[in-house]
Amino acid sequence: MGKNERAATRTGSWPGVAGPACRYRFFDRHGGVSRGPWASGNVGRRLGDDEQAVTENRRRVRAEMGVSHLLSAHQVHGTGIFFWDGSGDPEREVADCDALLTNVAGVGLMVQQADCQAVLLHDPVRHAIAAIHCGWRGSVQGILGRVVAAMAERYGSRPADLQAAISPSLGPCCAEFVNYRQELPTEFLSFQVADNHFDFWQISRSQLQAAGLAAERVVCAQICTCCDDDYFSYRRAGRAGPAVRAGRAGSAGRSGKAGQTGQTGQTGKTGQAGQAGSAGQGDLAERRQTGRHCSVIALTAPGSPPLSGTDDGSVRPGG
Ligand SMILES: [Zn+2]
Repeated sequence: MGKNERAATRTGSWPGVAGPACRYRFFDRHGGVSRGPWASGNVGRRLGDDEQAVTENRRRVRAEMGVSHLLSAHQVHGTGIFFWDGSGDPEREVADCDALLTNVAGVGLMVQQADCQAVLLHDPVRHAIAAIHCGWRGSVQGILGRVVAAMAERYGSRPADLQAAISPSLGPCCAEFVNYRQELPTEFLSFQVADNHFDFWQISRSQLQAAGLAAERVVCAQICTCCDDDYFSYRRAGRAGPAVRAGRAGSAGRSGKAGQTGQTGQTGKTGQAGQAGSAGQGDLAERRQTGRHCSVIALTAPGSPPLSGTDDGSVRPGG
């Protein structure tokens, strides 16, 4: 895929039927101020990066999106859902949460990633959005269907009205699961594309359709974050870093310490959660060092400026 073709998949907007439109952006790793393995646009806290750099990177994302605040979550590969109703500190990281929902305009919902999917949902009828962090554990737990159901219950959304975008994330080329017989349910076997390799883009499409979305309303960036070094990749970092000696990238998990499994991405942050699966215990010192890029979705407040773009189509905070 050429740069220009890819560019079209990195930013988008959905018009509302009678209310505020929605826009989203898949940010890459560039355009920030972080150094080392976090260079340069790392938005993840508690990864060892300089906190001031992360704050500046997040400020640039906020400015690029034209939103007043960025609500984020301390993602744990669970199924926790948080409804943002406009109260409380909109800059905080919501604890133990992998899906952020709102019907309030002007605040960006952010997903932090390093191989995992961000799945963004928009209901143009009820004016509601969702930002979902979906790694393979989220896929196994059916988080996409749970969020669609939550939007129906909370906002009265009809699944057939929803629009969805799947971010750059681990592609079928690199989604290797050595222990898939233990880690993945049998219904995922139909998405096996090669020895131990699975197509999680198609799994998400399938799960969204099973939840009632129309196939033509689901778009996928189809950019593999492990293959494309414009993005942070937990798996790529594992291949290059010391962790690869202890447990190869993939769902291996054969060594207790570094064999963290699958398309994790966020589990490296605190070591408490998200360690389900066949992974080892995850020693903080051995975690693969890499940053987090992000995806952001926001309901557009009336009168807010259009989302700016760059000439080469790349999407970089502040760049
Ligand atoms: Zn790949």
